[in-house]
Amino acid sequence: MIVRELGEFDGVLSENDDLMSIVTESRSQEISDDSFIPRSYFDLALKRIEWYAKKKNDRNFDHKQYDFLFNPDINKFDVIAFFLLCQAIGVKYGPNSRESRVLVESQGKLIENRLGKLSKIERNVLVTNILNSLLSSAHIKWTFFEDLISSKKLKLHELILDSGEIILDKDDFLERFSHKIQGRKPEKMYEALIGDRIKELVMIKMVMQNTENYIRQVGERSNREIEPNPILLELADKISEVLLASVQTFGQGSGGYGGSVKASALNPKAFPPCVKKVMEGMKSGGRNDAIIMFLTPFISYARLYPAVFSENITKQISDVDPTLSIIQNEILPLIFGAAERCSPPLFEDQPQDKVNLNAKLGFGMHQNPELKNEGETTWYTPMSCEKVKIHLPSLCKPDETCKKIGNPLSYYNRKIWVVKKESKAESAVEEDIKD
Ligand code: SF4
Repeated sequence: MIVRELGEFDGVLSENDDLMSIVTESRSQEISDDSFIPRSYFDLALKRIEWYAKKKNDRNFDHKQYDFLFNPDINKFDVIAFFLLCQAIGVKYGPNSRESRVLVESQGKLIENRLGKLSKIERNVLVTNILNSLLSSAHIKWTFFEDLISSKKLKLHELILDSGEIILDKDDFLERFSHKIQGRKPEKMYEALIGDRIKELVMIKMVMQNTENYIRQVGERSNREIEPNPILLELADKISEVLLASVQTFGQGSGGYGGSVKASALNPKAFPPCVKKVMEGMKSGGRNDAIIMFLTPFISYARLYPAVFSENITKQISDVDPTLSIIQNEILPLIFGAAERCSPPLFEDQPQDKVNLNAKLGFGMHQNPELKNEGETTWYTPMSCEKVKIHLPSLCKPDETCKKIGNPLSYYNRKIWVVKKESKAESAVEEDIKD
């Protein structure tokens, strides 16, 4: 398709005057800096990813830098940029990569935001047309959505089912249920239960699933057949750079006590009394909750995203640990060590708890954290002191610092400065003695 449109693949790198004028003429587009303006299909593809990464992670995100993405005139260029992204990610990283997840999510968000710019009627017509082109018949068995349901993009309880078929169409709904509804207008019931909301949800999730399937096909084909085009490989590298830059610039947090709270190696000296107690191993009841509900979120956030409460941006672990190396090499060994020190050791008699632990990190009900399962569950945030006092009261032995905080993670963020200051003072004294 790309070659058909451009004549030759190298064209994706060429400066494109039509593209640039659409960008600069977009209504609210910020053009004060050259770097805001994509000059080629290649640039446009990267801007799409950058938009999503910054929108998700940067509190100072400025939508005016990306207004061109919502200009309908960009469509022709946008379709090619989308296919470039799918192909670059498919050949280099495959469907189970972070890059693939980000592209799939960004496609969903882009559609959602673009729909938000339309009038109610335009929106309804567009969604109905797209759904009609995606659905093969008016009667859709729920099994048609098997991929969407098993990848947790869509949940069965969000849909209305009748005899195994999913109901989206208003007339279909009225025909099947009007005679059963009493005391309310069937039309109102349709709007409340399905309406535009569910149709849009299904349409967006189907586009996301199709995007993922396409990336998978590209990956499989490139394994079997052709040498990937070097431009695609270059684009794939640049996509990773954009994602890495967004992690480094925005993903490690700022704010909090005494200045920035950056993700860094854990310092057990700054752990609050409750965490120190669990790290020693639970000798009596509550092992399970202490390790899985309490320690796992604390250790993972303290190491990877200590500013979660001050930034208040929801993240997944791969947003801050893209290769999961910190999870594998630093976080899990600490948690498993504490589990081992429990009596009896936690995972020895309850190996299924490893699955629960994995779920609390956001990697679904599986034995090990893998990127392909990320997002199936939510990365749990650390328990507040109040919850610890209610659910695990034996852990809470407050000290002076505890009086100033409401969450063990805030204790850690506060104490880490004190510990740093103390160790600097100690080294200064040692230097003086040496002199
Ligand atoms: S007050 Fe909070 S931080 Fe301190 S020991 Fe209790 S639960 Fe832990």
